Amino acid sequence: MTDQNVKDKVQKTQKINGVRGMNDLLPADAAQWAHLEHVLRDLTRAYGYEFLRTPIVEATAVFQRGIGEVTDIVEKEMYSFEDRLNGEHLTLRPEGTAALVRSVIENNLIYEGPKRLWYTGPMFRHERPQRGRYRQFHQFGIEALGFAGPDIDAEIILMGQRLWDELGLKGVRLEINSLGQAPERAEHRAALVTYFEKNKAQLDEDSQRRLITNPLRILDSKNPEMQALIEGAPKLLDFLGEESLKHFNAVQALLKANNIPCKINPRLVRGLDYYNLTVFEWVTEELGAQGTIAGGGRYDPLIERMGGKAAPACGWAMGMERVLELMKVSGSLPEAQAQCDIFVLHQGGETLTAAMIIAERLRSAGIDTILFCPPDGQSASFKSQMKKADSSGAAFAVIIGPDELAKNEAQLKDLRGTGEQKSVPLDDVLGAAIDALVGSSE
Ligand code: ATP
Ligand code: MG
Repeated sequence: MTDQNVKDKVQKTQKINGVRGMNDLLPADAAQWAHLEHVLRDLTRAYGYEFLRTPIVEATAVFQRGIGEVTDIVEKEMYSFEDRLNGEHLTLRPEGTAALVRSVIENNLIYEGPKRLWYTGPMFRHERPQRGRYRQFHQFGIEALGFAGPDIDAEIILMGQRLWDELGLKGVRLEINSLGQAPERAEHRAALVTYFEKNKAQLDEDSQRRLITNPLRILDSKNPEMQALIEGAPKLLDFLGEESLKHFNAVQALLKANNIPCKINPRLVRGLDYYNLTVFEWVTEELGAQGTIAGGGRYDPLIERMGGKAAPACGWAMGMERVLELMKVSGSLPEAQAQCDIFVLHQGGETLTAAMIIAERLRSAGIDTILFCPPDGQSASFKSQMKKADSSGAAFAVIIGPDELAKNEAQLKDLRGTGEQKSVPLDDVLGAAIDALVGSSE
């Protein structure tokens, strides 16, 4: 072979890795995700929320308008590209709300009145990958559209608390704040600018820029060197008028009546631009730097900004990876499940045919069944098949060898309890299997 040939061959056989910060869901973790998804489905049903799915790709403008230009997401985290056929500006969705609102407007969904909705799926943000922070991650979120009162703010928070309880999460704290309305924020903003301008030398580069574009977001900075400065800044809560305070107090009273403790965090401003009134986050100390498992609030101006008829709205979103990680830390992940109820063994040829028919019969009756298939496509010893049966977690094995087949029989073997093995007529395997499974689960 020439050097070039060798090079080509190496290149063709070199392994190709996944994209950094984007993870595979492996079979070993699939049951945990299925469990979480199951609990989420039950939760949304319990409160009358309906599912809505949007595409993963949207026009970039959806997020520029729906999230706001001066945010971490739109400034630096989006996966945006031009459609190579028509030059459209497209983006892999970095969050769910803007796209959902786009869909609700486009499909006239709140024309007839308010709607309770939920969504889930992968989101994409170009961040530095680390524990709890990925470039593809998964969110679950709920949005209540068309409701103006504090009752719905309280309802969506109750849903969160119920969810953490269902999942057995420990040490989750609710932090809450009110961002008031635009005129109140304008007054506060003026006070903030005066304060930060006096201390301009202590602002990092991002914050210097935000001092002009969106000073409220300086409060959201994660830079540890700026925390003392932020601590001393004028508080938005002190600028709230009567109506905003009334809403905020009503939410807190409803939470209190439902025994939901919460802490007011005057620095909580959230990442998106169009929040107003109630904002909140659920945080934990158990996950290191990525301690926010979910967050949300009211975003009354958004629907109109996205081109719809003005309507109030609120919701929250959670990071599923962070929640699963916290379940792990809390020791509340479900135990690994058996792959099947029954594992069927055979010796190829006629015994395979009989085994396959039996396996289908079992599945038709709702019994999860794995049929042994030899890796070499020929056959394998019963001993090695037994090992597979054992590690599958199956409760029973059905064994059909040439001797059994000659007598029109199969062996039914208990793999977990007594280890007992008995002959059953081939036609009775289903009945015997049901009796055995019912007996073993009693
Ligand atoms: P953070 O402050 O951690 O960057 P955020 O304010 O950007 O979070 P939101 O846009 O409110 O996050 O998203 C809701 C939830 O989604 C977060 O509370 C978090 O649990 C999860 N989340 C956000 N970004 C990521 C990510 N890159 N990887 C994993 N989960 C994430
Ligand atoms: Mg972020």
